Amino acid sequence: MSKKTKKFRTEVNELLNLVISSLYSNKDIFLRELLSNSSDACDKARFESLSDKSILEDDPDWKIKIIADKENKTIKIIDNGIGMNLEEVEANIGTIAKSGTKAFMSKIKEGGNKDVPEMIGQFGVGFYSSFIVADSVDVYTRKAGTDKSEGVLWTSKGTGSYTVEEVEKENRGTEITLHINDEEETAQYFEEWKIRKIVKMYSDYIEYPVTMDVSHSEKPKDDEGKVIEDAEAVVTIEEQILNSQKALWTRSKSDIKEDEYKEFYKHISGDYNAPLETIHFKVEGGFEFSSIIFIPEKAPFDLFMQQDKKGVHLYVKRVFIMDDCKALVPDYLRFVKGLVDSADLPLNVSREILQEDALIQKIQSNLVKKVLGSLKTMKKKDSEKYLTFYGEFGKVLKEGMHSDFANKDKIQDLLLFEASSTEAGKLVSLQEYVEKMPEEQTEIYYISGQSRAAIENSPHLEIFKKKGFDVLFFTDPIDEWVAQGMTEYGGKPVKSIVKGDVKFDDDKAEDEEAVKKEAEEFKAPLEAIQKVLDEDIKEVRFSKRLTDSPCCLVADENAMGGNMERIMQSMNQEMPKQKRILELNKDHGIIQKIIEIAGKDTAAPELKEYTEILYDQALLMEGSPLPDPVSFAQKVTKLMATSLA
Ligand code: ADP
Repeated sequence: MSKKTKKFRTEVNELLNLVISSLYSNKDIFLRELLSNSSDACDKARFESLSDKSILEDDPDWKIKIIADKENKTIKIIDNGIGMNLEEVEANIGTIAKSGTKAFMSKIKEGGNKDVPEMIGQFGVGFYSSFIVADSVDVYTRKAGTDKSEGVLWTSKGTGSYTVEEVEKENRGTEITLHINDEEETAQYFEEWKIRKIVKMYSDYIEYPVTMDVSHSEKPKDDEGKVIEDAEAVVTIEEQILNSQKALWTRSKSDIKEDEYKEFYKHISGDYNAPLETIHFKVEGGFEFSSIIFIPEKAPFDLFMQQDKKGVHLYVKRVFIMDDCKALVPDYLRFVKGLVDSADLPLNVSREILQEDALIQKIQSNLVKKVLGSLKTMKKKDSEKYLTFYGEFGKVLKEGMHSDFANKDKIQDLLLFEASSTEAGKLVSLQEYVEKMPEEQTEIYYISGQSRAAIENSPHLEIFKKKGFDVLFFTDPIDEWVAQGMTEYGGKPVKSIVKGDVKFDDDKAEDEEAVKKEAEEFKAPLEAIQKVLDEDIKEVRFSKRLTDSPCCLVADENAMGGNMERIMQSMNQEMPKQKRILELNKDHGIIQKIIEIAGKDTAAPELKEYTEILYDQALLMEGSPLPDPVSFAQKVTKLMATSLA
């Protein structure tokens, strides 16, 4: 293939500019990124070598070498990892192959660039960080298992375009050459101390030796071992290993510094921010595994698209097997990063087997226990941190209420909601809710809706406010599903206040009787009202929940509420029409008037009009759209005209 010049995709160009300018203050990270890539490449090659021994025959000693050449102003990072073929170079280096690039760019534009460094960090920049210190970069690579004529040379100045060509390469692996720019500050990267420092600080845990040629000059000694002062110094060059090469998870927790965890997290997750929580544990006994699990501080852009490739990696006896092993974590914890190193799985374990492997199930359930346990502790001991977590991942965690029956109670304990008693934005847990319940309250109440504003003045809340009973606000669309799985907490039933009848423990028997009697007495007018709304309403009855408003709509105990109906509609889900119940406040002046009209003449023309207005109002109050807004406006106008006349 002849040399070809190609253009970066537009968003790559934009991203490159952002990366270079926003990471300017921490240039050192370029080396960390490249070493991290080399380490991943060795991981992959080692894994391949389990089934393809020829890889080891070619070159059995995994290694990453740094060569700093002050004279030529280059720094090379050479590995004998998996390498890339032409296609892969184009896919991985020539474009940014990450799933969220577009979404990320538009988010940055939306945000007016103000949080760019943090967002870049969250996104991860990897290879592109080379351009912080280099004017141009060459990637010279050959994929393991291919012929030496299938090497690839990619070069770019990081501005607009790159070239690629197929070239000869003797060994497998990748050699990255950075042509260091002329800035004063970048000269330090040729210095041995600086490279040592960066490797120690950021990449010490890398399992493969990261080496550098270190020159050492010494004057020769005479036969008695004395230095010959006037002789010329002899320069010897020795290849030294710069990192301790100890896989972090194999070390004891007490020996690991927080910074080491942080660096490891960055390596494994591609996230530049520090993790919110680190969980390092070992399970021993019947089966054994070690694990480090991180909870990120921020949700990625593609959390709900599940395209993140950096979940929990699987190792077997310290050999990397695969990244993002989905079988290790349930979907609702898909935000965690980290690794599991199993001592018991076979090295040749395949993705297909993993899904059903009993051992993997056991590992998963242990891991879930640890994560939920650590969240519980965080919630108890550091509520601010927990709120950060919950703001980012609460919605995903809630999915577990339906998918992880065994841990439902534990998840339930981690949930937080706004409530009628809290200020906007303040959250309470179910436990806090229950602790504050007045003695006579025996049930946990909730109301669901699109937002706090849409429900906090709902007529359904009236009786609860009067009694001093707090009501939880379920304002996430997913809360409707959460509610379905949450029938009780701590032995107390969880009830929607817009469904079924309201019954309180202190209801008196004689009041119940009176209600029944009234229903009998007003049977005819109530039925007349119901008839007007026959298409939408299955029953009209007197309400026990209203104190101020004239009416409200409620659903049957087990039927879908108005909020759920709206959610389903917004998702274009067809569903059979659910008729609801219209509740009237018998103490309200206008209801008394309407009942009076219906009592006199069930076919009175104004009865129809008033009833329809009542129904439309009830819809408006719960945030539902009106089927015919024009007709509603006309009726209200007519009423106003009459009262203003
Ligand atoms: P990330 O490492 O976060 O995926 P990078 O931009 O650093 O992002 O790298 C993109 C991809 O290029 C990597 O996922 C990998 O497939 C490939 N790559 C980068 N460096 C190397 C290397 N030294 N050897 C083999 N492949 C590499």
